[in-house]
Amino acid sequence: MLLLDGKKLADELKSEIKTETESFMAAGGRKPHLAAILVGNDGGSLTYVGHKVKACEQVGFKSTLLHFEDSISEEQLLNEVKKLNDDEEVTGFIVQLPLPKHINADRVIMAIDPRKDVDGFHPVNVGKVTLGLPAYVSATPLGITKILERYGVETAGKHCVVIGRSNIVGRPMSILLSGQSATGNATVTVCHSRTKNLREITMQADIIIAALGKPEFLTADMVKEGVVIIDVGTTRVTDSTAKAGWRLKGDVKFEEVSKKCAAITPVPGGVGPMTVVSLLLNTLKAAKHEVQ
Ligand code: NAP
Repeated sequence: MLLLDGKKLADELKSEIKTETESFMAAGGRKPHLAAILVGNDGGSLTYVGHKVKACEQVGFKSTLLHFEDSISEEQLLNEVKKLNDDEEVTGFIVQLPLPKHINADRVIMAIDPRKDVDGFHPVNVGKVTLGLPAYVSATPLGITKILERYGVETAGKHCVVIGRSNIVGRPMSILLSGQSATGNATVTVCHSRTKNLREITMQADIIIAALGKPEFLTADMVKEGVVIIDVGTTRVTDSTAKAGWRLKGDVKFEEVSKKCAAITPVPGGVGPMTVVSLLLNTLKAAKHEVQ
């Protein structure tokens, strides 16, 4: 079984991004600047944004964190988005999700200038990805394609089963895998909570992308020998033996499933670090004006 080590790969890619950024700036390019909007004090969101800011420092980008109270109104938030759209010093920015219930996340995402949408959530970028045009690809699916590419996992002609159809993971992942690219050309089945006989489908899979957010959902009796598994799930599960009082669990029952796998990502240390790196890749792309 090959462990698809996202942490190690992320470190390698960060070092490549740092070198590329230095050359870009030496040739007169402006230092890439990633801004992040964070609303409220959700533990997960604080951690994720913290990782993103730290990663910017590691590769020589500038970063700015705009942290607002839960009580910020939708109108005020839209105004902050507009300011970042208009700020020539900012290369790209993200709005960390989830947002409080009184704010319409779709409206906020739609307000982002697609040219600065380094999370790849704006419909213009989603549409371009669907058409195979240059675009900002949503960070988690982009990170997964990098894992497949760098570890030489062949996708062409393979049956890929994506469990989950969210706009940020499952849906874009299924589009990328079925597209015409080095990490595409697969036959893709997308499963969700209304899928019947899920086990019958996962048993046929050469590659499974588990992105449903249900800890240890995928068990050994649901997969065939030699399968490749990408575990996107990250759920905080209470654990009194852990220092924090919780532990991150993936959607796959790693201990038993990994015994049948040709390759598998761990949680933590798999998809998570690659998501952060993908955001850096998109920001560097924005700095180079590669997406119009
Ligand atoms: P989401 O928006 O909650 O979507 C979950 C999807 O799973 C939905 O499409 C849902 O179906 C489907 N689903 C739920 N129960 C199912 C079941 N029993 N059988 C089959 N499908 C089922 O979640 P998300 O934002 O995509 O995130 C998924 C997981 O990935 C979460 O654990 C999240 O924390 C994690 N994540 C990790 C990263 C990372 O960087 N590592 C990034 C993003 C997300 P319906 O559409 O029918 O409801």
